Amino acid sequence: MRIINVFANDTGLSKDTKKMLRRKLEKSDFVIPRDFDPNAELVVCIGGDGSFLETLHKFNFPDIPFIGINTGHLGFFQELHPNELDEFIFKYKQGKYEIQHLKTVKAVVTSGDERFEYKGLNEILIKGEMSRAVHLNISIGESFIERFSGDGILVSTPAGSTAYNYSLGGSIVDPRLNLLQVAPIAPMNTTAYRSFTSSLILPPDLSIRINPEYSGGQGLLIVEDSMEHLHESVDEIYLEFSESIVKLLRFENYDFWTKVKSKFL
Ligand code: NAP
Ligand code: MN
Repeated sequence: MRIINVFANDTGLSKDTKKMLRRKLEKSDFVIPRDFDPNAELVVCIGGDGSFLETLHKFNFPDIPFIGINTGHLGFFQELHPNELDEFIFKYKQGKYEIQHLKTVKAVVTSGDERFEYKGLNEILIKGEMSRAVHLNISIGESFIERFSGDGILVSTPAGSTAYNYSLGGSIVDPRLNLLQVAPIAPMNTTAYRSFTSSLILPPDLSIRINPEYSGGQGLLIVEDSMEHLHESVDEIYLEFSESIVKLLRFENYDFWTKVKSKFL
C-alpha cells in the first residue's frame, strides 16, 4: 500500500486543489489518509511557505519527503503549481525526481532547572518581549564575541537565508552550503553600546551561546519559524544545527538560483 499525506490550508483554491489531487492520486492507487500517517512515503502541502512551515512543525519534522503546491503568495519552498497535478503524478510514479536535503537549526534554552528545545527550518529569532533594546552576550565556539545591544538577533539556515534574514540585509546562501548566519536586528552603535552591524557567517562545527543581560525584567521571545515562545528569564540559549533534515522533492528543472531570481527580481 502506497500512502501519501495531503494537507491544505483553508483557502478556496487550496481546498479545491486538495480535492482534485486526492481524486487523481486515488485513481493511481495511492491511499490518502484523513490524518497524518507516519507510514506515508510523501507529504503534499498545499498553500504557501507559511502553511508548509506550520505543517512541518505540527508533525515535528518527520523524516518523510515533502512537496509543496503553491497557492500562497511567494511559495519559495513549493515545487508545483495547482495546474501541474497530472505531470506531478506521472513523474512521481516514474521516480523522476531528486530529493533536496535542508538543514535545520535548533536552540536549547535553559531557564533555572528548566530546559526547552526549539527547531527551525528557516531560523530562530531572539528578541525582547517589549519595545526595549535587549542586551545579549554572544559567544561563538569558545570565544566571547560581543555584548549585542539592539532589537535582537536572527540565526538562519541556508534555506531560511531568503526569508527574514534577507530583509535584515543578510546574505542569500546556496542551500548546498553548510553554514549558519547570525544577523543583527537594529544593532546599536554608540559610545554606550557597540555591536556588529553585518551578519556573521559560521561553519557547522561552531555553536553560538547567548547569555542575556536583564534590566527591568523584560522577557525574551524565542521564535522558531514564526512560532513564538515567551520566556520570563533565560540563563542561556545555545544554538547549532539540529539533527533533523527536511527532505523536499525537486524535479529536473529545479535550480536554486533560477528560483531566487524568479521570486526576487
Ligand atoms: P508571513 O509573515 O506571512 O510571511 C513572510 C514572507 O516570507 C511570505 O511571503 C513567505 O512566503 C516568505 N517566506 C517564508 N519562508 C521563506 C523562505 N525560506 N524563503 C523566502 N521566502 C520565505 O509568515 P509565514 O508565511 O508564516 O513565513 C514565516 C517566515 O516569515 C519566518 O520564518 C520568517 O523568515 C519570515 N518573516 C519575515 C519578516 C520580514 O521579512 N521582515 C518578518 C517576520 C517573518 P509565502 O507568501 O509563500 O507564505
Ligand atoms: Mn505566509
